[in-house]
Amino acid sequence: MWIVALSLLLTSCAHDPDAGKLRVTVIDVGQGDSILIETPTGHAMLIDGGGSNRDDEGDPRHVGLRTVVPYLRYRGIDHLDAIVLTHPHADHVGGLPDILREVHTDTVLDGTTLPFPSPAYAAFLTEVRNRHIPYRRVVRGTHLDFGDGVTADALNPPTGLPYGTATDNATMNNYSAVFLLSYGKTHMLLDGDAQLEAEENMLAAYPNLQADALKCGHHGAANATSDAWLDRVRPRYAAISCGLHNPFHHPNPATLARLKAHGVQAYVTATDGAVIFVSDGARVTATGAVKRSE
Ligand SMILES: [Zn+2]
Repeated sequence: MWIVALSLLLTSCAHDPDAGKLRVTVIDVGQGDSILIETPTGHAMLIDGGGSNRDDEGDPRHVGLRTVVPYLRYRGIDHLDAIVLTHPHADHVGGLPDILREVHTDTVLDGTTLPFPSPAYAAFLTEVRNRHIPYRRVVRGTHLDFGDGVTADALNPPTGLPYGTATDNATMNNYSAVFLLSYGKTHMLLDGDAQLEAEENMLAAYPNLQADALKCGHHGAANATSDAWLDRVRPRYAAISCGLHNPFHHPNPATLARLKAHGVQAYVTATDGAVIFVSDGARVTATGAVKRSE
């Protein structure tokens, strides 16, 4: 029995060159966000569950079952330490109820700051409540320690309501949870849908902010990933999560031009497939699952 278990373990390690490293996958969920974090000792956290803002794509929840859960299974994950919702828009929350039903989850962290009575968000909260999953809000200063050298710190949303109380898209985006992942000397910054106002707020709060890899805010829209943000963060790699031929025309050519001008190697899920950042604590590498590798 033990020999079988050991050989299976050795086999799985032999087939996974990223074992023992920090691995962050920006999953290709079409127009939306879903990011899987796997730590060196096998802890796993999911940030957002994909979804869709488009009625003509059918039920937006299906991306959870169709894409995210199969990817978790493929990675051998049957248990998540945490699910984070950056903000309650359907392209982030839509897939989460199905994921919560399929994958045991220890805790749920929610970046939602303003009341947002949408059916997709309500379905998520209902699922969390029905499953009695410990739930807490994310605010600046929320600190997660995976116990193996990997930490995650929330840089946004700040306490108070600096972006106002309107529930328009831009305001809700600016309140997105933003996490800085750290492992050894390396950092990865996951921006949710944060836009320029949130970037300015974080620039003022974190003068020493830097990251090797950046998940760009708001699907590569023109109103995120500013020159000032790139000047401060100085990423080597960037990922943009968006769908092919999406109605918002993400990523915006101006955003891609800014990334290029800053010497950032950018990957877009619509054309590169899942984008995978791997850190051994000293160095980050990036790979596009479909088209390109570093
Ligand atoms: Zn979004």
